[in-house]
Amino acid sequence: MDESAARGPEVYATPNSTTPGQPVVFDAAVCTGCNICVHVCLEDVFIPHPRKGEPPILLYPEECWYCGPCVSACPHEGAIRLNHPLQQRVRWKRKSTGEHFRV
Ligand code: SF4
Ligand code: SF4
Repeated sequence: MDESAARGPEVYATPNSTTPGQPVVFDAAVCTGCNICVHVCLEDVFIPHPRKGEPPILLYPEECWYCGPCVSACPHEGAIRLNHPLQQRVRWKRKSTGEHFRV
């Protein structure tokens, strides 16, 4: 069997135009490339990396809902985290106590 037949069919993936947002950040030192996050994402934001063991590719970042199953399903703590946009990081501070909180 020649090498191209052994690899299977070639698939081309074209990302949408780059956006400033990066909704999910991987830690390549922790991620094992198991692709569980790829399979649980209902929006198909990622695709598996063509090199086995590397973090998935964030192909459609603007499709992310920040819903979190990709993070909660990951078996390796710290391998993936949500990166909320600045305008979604609003918090409140109680004048009386100085406590910071979100509602
Ligand atoms: S981030 Fe977690 S679930 Fe996703 S490929 Fe890496 S180890 Fe697997
Ligand atoms: S937060 Fe939700 S939509 Fe965004 S990549 Fe994770 S599972 Fe997919």
